[in-house]
Amino acid sequence: MLKDRRRRVMELLLAHGIDGCLIEDQVYLRYLTGFTGSEATALLCDGDCQLLVDSRYLVQATAECDDGVTVIQPDSRKTGITSWCQTYKPKQLGFVDTAIRYARFAELATQLGSVSLIGCSEQLQQIRICKDEGEISALTSVCHLASQAFSALIPQVRAGVSEVDLAIELEFAMRRHGASGRGFDFIVASGYRGALPHGVASKKLLEQNELVTFDFGAVLDGYHSDETVTLPIGKPSDRHRSIYMLVRDAQEAALAAVQPGISCVALDAVARDVIRQGGYGEYFGHGLGHGVGLEIHEAPTISPRGSGELVPGMVITIEPGIYIPGFGGVRIEDTVLVTDTGYQRLTTVPKECW
Ligand code: ZN
Ligand code: ZN
Repeated sequence: MLKDRRRRVMELLLAHGIDGCLIEDQVYLRYLTGFTGSEATALLCDGDCQLLVDSRYLVQATAECDDGVTVIQPDSRKTGITSWCQTYKPKQLGFVDTAIRYARFAELATQLGSVSLIGCSEQLQQIRICKDEGEISALTSVCHLASQAFSALIPQVRAGVSEVDLAIELEFAMRRHGASGRGFDFIVASGYRGALPHGVASKKLLEQNELVTFDFGAVLDGYHSDETVTLPIGKPSDRHRSIYMLVRDAQEAALAAVQPGISCVALDAVARDVIRQGGYGEYFGHGLGHGVGLEIHEAPTISPRGSGELVPGMVITIEPGIYIPGFGGVRIEDTVLVTDTGYQRLTTVPKECW
């Protein structure tokens, strides 16, 4: 499977006239070689792959990488890269230009001399945009795990408990369910704080008759889940209820529209139109969703500024929201797999809480 990914990367780069690839980004190291450590250089050319590591990672990399990867511990990364260039004589090396420090880029550019570095993040993203069987299985597992952990937390969601305490409990629950960690700082935004789309958990206590929004995700085998649940505490007002129902209608309309061939812009518009017709268009400021995988936010972008269309194998979020300053907000989010005929929901917390 990893061999196939490397082959597809090189085919794509060769089609752009780029005859080699240098990878130091952790996400792509994992995706292309299986190596999960923090530092290494993968070099791809002519169907071969070398992974340069230091002494910390020789044993680990040898165990993690498939037999198509030659793991080497050179005297230094610099000598390793130089000797690889002398063997393979690439003219141009693609690299992940969206994830490199400028100092490292400048160092590499000097070391490589006449071999030029070509930014290839766009092309490399297209390779990862559709998930293969192993990735779909990992994403299904992590979504189920996080949803189960959240469901176990629901009885503790009541007035008098602080947002941050619930965030901590949720992280413990995820770890107990087998997650390797949390995918991002959880958003727990209650009452007026619900108007903050990215309101990370604060010391605020939950109060009776308000809403609380949880946006949470776990990591398992490098893959992320992403789900948002908005719950009522006690009996919130009719306005709260009608806003919740509008967001739910928008999410259900968008989910029903998920199928191969719909453009990312058109899918976003399905949910946006529901919210606009309900009179809250100005309060839905962000895009409808994004891809999820080895990164919490990856291609495609489902928004008015998105591009491309849905293809089976994409794993995306559908997350409309309404945020009213001074009043509060609602967001509902599921992670779904795009199938040949529609979608399969991977996150499982029921959203019919009223
Ligand atoms: Zn989320
Ligand atoms: Zn999301």
